[in-house]
Amino acid sequence: MNVLIVEDEKSLSDEIVVFLKSEGYLCEQAFTGADASEKIAINLYDFVLLDLGLPDCDGLDIINNDRAWGSEPAFIIITARGEVQDKVKGLDLGADDYIAKPFALTELAARMQAVGRRKFKIPGQDMNVGEFVIEFQSRKVTHNDNEVLLTRKEFDLLNYLVINRNKVLTRQQLYEHIWGNILEDQYDSNFIDVHIKNVRRKLNEFASTPWLETVRGIGYRVSF
Ligand code: CA
Repeated sequence: MNVLIVEDEKSLSDEIVVFLKSEGYLCEQAFTGADASEKIAINLYDFVLLDLGLPDCDGLDIINNDRAWGSEPAFIIITARGEVQDKVKGLDLGADDYIAKPFALTELAARMQAVGRRKFKIPGQDMNVGEFVIEFQSRKVTHNDNEVLLTRKEFDLLNYLVINRNKVLTRQQLYEHIWGNILEDQYDSNFIDVHIKNVRRKLNEFASTPWLETVRGIGYRVSF
């Protein structure tokens, strides 16, 4: 999961980054509203953590603009302004949750997980996918109680395809969700193909159900 932290207090921002990285998130930082708007317009994020008190604008404007760009990250407002009005306005504009400063980082992580489950439809419990069982909490894939050994990134890739089942995901979407945002000229679509090939091979050692479809010229889709 790819997170943009919009917070002008550098020490707090850095603290959040260190913590979220240890939880397995990919993090980028923006210290002004202008910087945040630019990043959201170009990149794909799963989460935007948004401080409302920014030096150059009101954080709420960023959510407003984002709707115009048609990007859809989950917004979590983080602010010292504990005012009910801000909270109501933020949630009205489409923010997914709200957390007041000061907060414990573990609390932030719990909120992000809850929002993630809702917004990205990440199942709270195990899921049957064809002949396999995916255990989202323990990050395991099994087939008749035999574990399919996937690397961390391979699991993330499979996980992302499964929660978006029946939707075609482009190679770039898969790339940015799992490895983070990169410049267009550094983007190598073969990279995803190689990882998909590995996941397929590992699963096909156990079963041959054709559940992962390559959509020519676009990307991949899981149907079950
Ligand atoms: Ca601030």
